[in-house]
Amino acid sequence: MPELPEVETVRRGLDKYTLDRAITGTEVLLPRTIAHPDTPEEFDFGLQHTQIQTWHRRGKYLFAELVSTDTQQAAGWLGVHLRMTGQLLWVESHTDLHKHTRVRLFLGKDWEIRFVDQRTFGQMWWIPPSKEPGQVMTGMGKLGPEPFEPAFSIEYFAAKLQKSQRNIKTVILDQTLIAGVGNIYADEALFMSKIHPNTPAGNLTISQVQLLHESIINVLQTSIDQGGTTFSNYLNVQGTNGNYGGMAWVYNRTKQPCRVCKTSIEKIRLGGRGTHYCPECQKI
Ligand SMILES: [Zn+2]
Repeated sequence: MPELPEVETVRRGLDKYTLDRAITGTEVLLPRTIAHPDTPEEFDFGLQHTQIQTWHRRGKYLFAELVSTDTQQAAGWLGVHLRMTGQLLWVESHTDLHKHTRVRLFLGKDWEIRFVDQRTFGQMWWIPPSKEPGQVMTGMGKLGPEPFEPAFSIEYFAAKLQKSQRNIKTVILDQTLIAGVGNIYADEALFMSKIHPNTPAGNLTISQVQLLHESIINVLQTSIDQGGTTFSNYLNVQGTNGNYGGMAWVYNRTKQPCRVCKTSIEKIRLGGRGTHYCPECQKI
């Protein structure tokens, strides 16, 4: 599932290729991909004669600021959530359609943004200029601070962890506490901090909290620098893989030797999620 580094990599690609080109039309192949407005026709009507000024990311949500191609006035927002398997690809329009193509946004006659999504949980929104994106993409309105912003301070993080007796792995996946950290980077950050994933969050010492805070930021930045992680479906807008997976400490490395101590990496389930850790390096 794409997490913050993958979505950020997609955002950077979209910002590189899709700005200042008129959206000349849309084709919705799977209507339920459009979460707002109610029909593909209204979605198409909202996007016609607009162009993308810039792409933003909040947690795992992407949203583009639109302006009218005629007047350059604000023309609403285009929102996207990739969910499990969504891919936003920048392709030439004559390229063969992948069978999981759900939505096409034509930017002139030669190029398009294609939304390909095998599992069909992905969503797209057109949001009118009278509203804020978070009012319509309601999940986005509930997100905790971005990991790279000052609001995600050690004090904030420590206060939230202190109150919880849930296991630390489950707590750092909570998007209302911190936005964008999913299963891959939770496992990686816990390994880097030498914290067992089943440790009750409230039991962590302040130095463990500091180390975990730093590790979350570091692993996300390292992965962004590598273009994200590809284990199954994730691709950047040019259709290429991310490279973090080859560097992972524990994620997806069950039964392989720990890169530090050579002990076999174990996989357990915590809060319903597969969790990878080194039983030697990470003790409760
Ligand atoms: Zn180890």
